[in-house]
Amino acid sequence: MEKRVLFKHIDDPEQVTVKGYVSNGGYRAWEKALKSMKPADVIDEVKRSGLRGRGGAGFPAGLKWSFVPKGSPRPSYLICNADESEPGTCKDRELMECDPHGVIEGIAIAAYAIGSHISFIYIRGEFGGPIRAMERAIEEAYAKGYLGRNIFGSGYDLELIAHTGGGAYICGEETALLNSLEGERGMSRIRPPFPAVEGLYACPTVVNNVETLSTVPHIINNGAAWYTSMGTEKSPGTKIFSLSGHVNKPANYELELGTPLSYLINDLGGGISGGHRLKAIIPGGSSTPFLLPGQIETPLDYESLTEAGSMLGSGGVIVVHDKTCIVWVIERLIHFYRHESCGKCTPCREGTGWLEQLISRIERGEGTPGDLEKIDSICDNIMGRTICPLGDAAVMPIQSTLRLFRDEWQYHIDHKSCLVKSEFEFA
Ligand code: SF4
Repeated sequence: MEKRVLFKHIDDPEQVTVKGYVSNGGYRAWEKALKSMKPADVIDEVKRSGLRGRGGAGFPAGLKWSFVPKGSPRPSYLICNADESEPGTCKDRELMECDPHGVIEGIAIAAYAIGSHISFIYIRGEFGGPIRAMERAIEEAYAKGYLGRNIFGSGYDLELIAHTGGGAYICGEETALLNSLEGERGMSRIRPPFPAVEGLYACPTVVNNVETLSTVPHIINNGAAWYTSMGTEKSPGTKIFSLSGHVNKPANYELELGTPLSYLINDLGGGISGGHRLKAIIPGGSSTPFLLPGQIETPLDYESLTEAGSMLGSGGVIVVHDKTCIVWVIERLIHFYRHESCGKCTPCREGTGWLEQLISRIERGEGTPGDLEKIDSICDNIMGRTICPLGDAAVMPIQSTLRLFRDEWQYHIDHKSCLVKSEFEFA
């Protein structure tokens, strides 16, 4: 069964307006936090809930907030990362477009917790609908006094600024996002220093994803114990999964963490489309390693997916049926990552280009003996040797298919053709 917490009112057309949001219980958590909780109480509650970052890294949200130095003379900033660009992932877009006040309320509570008075939401430039929904909602929130000066008579002020990105995937990486927000080219920064100590304008900064922040009001309203009663011990709560690819009912579904992958694909997604059989699953967005059909009972939580050899990532579950050429899928993916590499570090800038050339050649039927070993070696020289995670993201799916579907890769080289007809297309 779906477990709708963030999606509880997602089908209510009035939820986008401040009136509809408030009548569904909205902004109560914001009032509760401001009137009856100290910032440290908010951080403790979120820490106890075990909420982990939903953008991909899964870092505990409350712990991240606690890294912001107390009593710093410099201002601190809260930034909502709404630059959702991972292929296969489209949940933040739906949250912003259908429940924008939920995002604002989460931003406000998190800003209060870290002592920030200026916050930003950095929205992917291509997201026309979500940008308009967020801008309208921010205006409404100011007009109703949920943002601005002396909120709920508490003396606390908060500004929220919507900023649109230029459409670069790398700006979803928090340090590249900070550069972009400062007006620089979107390129990742070397860490340390981490943003909590030296982020936007060299001031303490917390960057959290849309889904993470949208969860916060529910935790403040219902308490950490309520949140940990869902999901698993180490992966508490719910998560929105974007189901796409070869399934009959692709959509965003909210589930308790720990729900088997088979339930998402077969029960909610209506099974494999076109009467075909399952060939492979990418469970956490296009940068995560593939799983095989025999792993379809894997629980969707951080630990189980790691144990299965992949990752929960951003929760973008891409299903691949048996009439799909794996080499072709990988060629599409490496084209994306090569194009999106910011170019700052050599292994990623040069390596993704070499990989694209080699893989395209194999896909066209022009592969030569030794190509697979070359790809293995280039991947090994990128993995773990780059400034930001894009390098790893580019090679993990390649490495996993070289392991799981090596015969298919070899067939391309030996026979200069493909075992299956390619029908896979990314939405
Ligand atoms: Fe840029 Fe790629 Fe290096 Fe990340 S890994 S900093 S995207 S070149």
